[in-house]
Amino acid sequence: MPNIARIETFVVSQRLQKPFSYSQWEYDRRTVCLVRVTADDGTYGWGEGYGPAGVIRAGIEFFTPLLLGRDPLANGALWQAMHVRGLDFGRRGVLLAAISAIDIALWDLKGKLLHAPVSVLLGGPRRSRVNVYATGLYFDREPGLRDRLAREAAGYVAQGFRAVKMKVGLGVEEDAGNVAAVRAAIGQDIQLMIDSNHAYLLTEARALVDRVAEHDIGWFEEPVSPDDYAGYRELRRQTRIPIAGGECEYGVHGFQQLFAAEAVDIAQPDLCACGGLTEGQRIAALARAHFVEVTPHCWGTGIAFAVGLHFLSTIDVLPGRRRAREPFLEMDRTENPLRDLLTTPRFSPEGGSVAVPTAPGLGVDVDAALLAEYSKPF
Ligand SMILES: [Mg+2]
Repeated sequence: MPNIARIETFVVSQRLQKPFSYSQWEYDRRTVCLVRVTADDGTYGWGEGYGPAGVIRAGIEFFTPLLLGRDPLANGALWQAMHVRGLDFGRRGVLLAAISAIDIALWDLKGKLLHAPVSVLLGGPRRSRVNVYATGLYFDREPGLRDRLAREAAGYVAQGFRAVKMKVGLGVEEDAGNVAAVRAAIGQDIQLMIDSNHAYLLTEARALVDRVAEHDIGWFEEPVSPDDYAGYRELRRQTRIPIAGGECEYGVHGFQQLFAAEAVDIAQPDLCACGGLTEGQRIAALARAHFVEVTPHCWGTGIAFAVGLHFLSTIDVLPGRRRAREPFLEMDRTENPLRDLLTTPRFSPEGGSVAVPTAPGLGVDVDAALLAEYSKPF
């Protein structure tokens, strides 16, 4: 079997036609760090990190000497080698995103070398399609936000989505009005989730919960600071709205802290940041032991989305019943040429779900010409 011959990073970036914002930040471009791991027989795998692209690139370069010349099929051992190398400096945070990117590329490469889709390597698919929900409904600078949110949400329903997630975090009063408008626009049969991106103190999150409870909220995501485990637990005790979080959490030990605090009903690891598919499987096992649902955070290119599809295709529904509620994958619908143009195939939902790729590896590839164009300095 071949050995790892080359590890290349690509920081790709594209300016957006229209900036958008959430409670913490405004985006006017989308930028991501991809990695390609190539074996000496020419077979390659793609990976992606979630977080600051230039820092992730530096992290990948830090780990590269550990990997060159090694057997890519021993990806678990390579994960451990990176973990041990980084432990003194980056138990949590962006160094885990670098490990994630490499780990994902190794799974893709392994699948291609063994002629098997990643879902098969992960234990075999429980489902051939994965339910998705539309993430959008961000803020912008223009007047008339509430009407625009209502129109945008209705548009997702018209496209076949059965669930949508909207941003909150503008203040309790404004949020409550926006949630009411979106609920009115989509009707009662569509699931509606809200996400504040840790905008609130417990007192504010509690007030918002009281104001929106009548709108049948599927979950309240990142209501308070990711460091406020006690706030999470307290809010969760006081509301029937399920509490979700974990996109800022890293590694199985980070999620252990979240679960030990009884902070969430739904865990949301980002597989391109939490430690990759290798650590994602451990987090899923830990979540299973705590009877916590896993619904990955996913906000990148088609590589990240394919990772989520393979991962969720192998997740069991707990506790198990004949008519079980299927797991959900986040499908970002905001403007992103890196997702829509750079990677193939282009995933589109049909009937609220997306087919899991069946080609060897992740089943995604990167357009070489656009990769060169999007990698130019900006
Ligand atoms: Mg979120």
